[in-house]
Amino acid sequence: MAEVLVVVEATREFGVKKVTLELLTLARELGSPAAVVLGGPGAVAALADKLGEYGAETIYAAEHEEIDGHLVAPKATVLAELVRRVQPAAVLLASSQEGKEIAARLAVKLDNGVLTDVVGLAADGTATQVAFAGSTIVTSKVTRGLPLVTLRPNSVTPSPAPATPAVEQLDVVLGEADRLTRVVERVAEQKGSRPELTEASVVVSGGRGVGNADNFKLVEELADLLGGAVGASRAAVDSGFYPHQFQVGQTGKTVSPQLYVALGISGAIQHRAGMQTSKTIVAVNKDAEAPIFELADFGVVGDLFKVVPQAAEEIRKR
Ligand code: FAD
Repeated sequence: MAEVLVVVEATREFGVKKVTLELLTLARELGSPAAVVLGGPGAVAALADKLGEYGAETIYAAEHEEIDGHLVAPKATVLAELVRRVQPAAVLLASSQEGKEIAARLAVKLDNGVLTDVVGLAADGTATQVAFAGSTIVTSKVTRGLPLVTLRPNSVTPSPAPATPAVEQLDVVLGEADRLTRVVERVAEQKGSRPELTEASVVVSGGRGVGNADNFKLVEELADLLGGAVGASRAAVDSGFYPHQFQVGQTGKTVSPQLYVALGISGAIQHRAGMQTSKTIVAVNKDAEAPIFELADFGVVGDLFKVVPQAAEEIRKR
């Protein structure tokens, strides 16, 4: 069975990202899953067990200061070399900022088609893809080269299938074009106890209707009760209510949780682009005509300052 390459995403704090486990689960439907770790020296050691637990039969490891020390260009170069050599059945990446950039560069290097923001992939390579800022769902197929696909987080339910992966070290041979940008500093994001926004299975977001930064405590409180992450609309971010890294939408992050709660958010197309593939959407808005209600599975027409404390109270009782 041909290999399916899964490009691994991981954080120093939490290890392998959930989206990578989703990709490995999906890869098992398409062929023999092989994880590709592109990182600094020693990167594989912390990740191998988890990758094996979700079915990676091989781990291709490119562990090198230069992979870690530059932006994505070296990763695309190493990956292109690997694809040329092993001729996989498909290459799967996360639809993250980095995943999409690697995929785009890889497509150019291989003269291959690429599909981004995929939410489903059939064994014959037919993808379900979200297009035009989320307003259209299309099925599409790469017609030039192999299926090169980036998958939106939370599109697949990860399931373990233990394997004992063989680790193969890759040569890292870079050119000048790979060294045009360099990482000069890393600043760790302020980490609380909440899950990462794009990985969370519950997201509670606040909009302009929340009113000010202080009131966002209400959004945070509900998120914490539900074990979720906090998001914000662009209007809330631009008004200084909440930091930009939590913005959901076309120019923010794309989320696809099991439950998305929109508080005081009107539901503009640019916001919907980042959240409309959420499995269940709950909206609280005092305007019954707000477009968010066209999308919501459950809607409460009411003042969020009354509705949210009542909901929180109810959740605390259970
Ligand atoms: P509003 O549209 O002002 O809505 C506030 C809502 O709160 C209203 O529906 C109101 O009825 C309700 N409300 C007020 N008080 C209460 C209360 N007490 N209780 C209950 N409900 C209440 N937006 C994004 O979110 N993400 C993006 O990534 C993004 N990218 C963009 C990119 C471009 C190129 C452009 C042009 C725009 C983008 N926008 C984005 C902005 C988008 O068009 C909207 O302006 C924005 O989403 C509106 O945010 P909002 O819903 O919080 O505010």
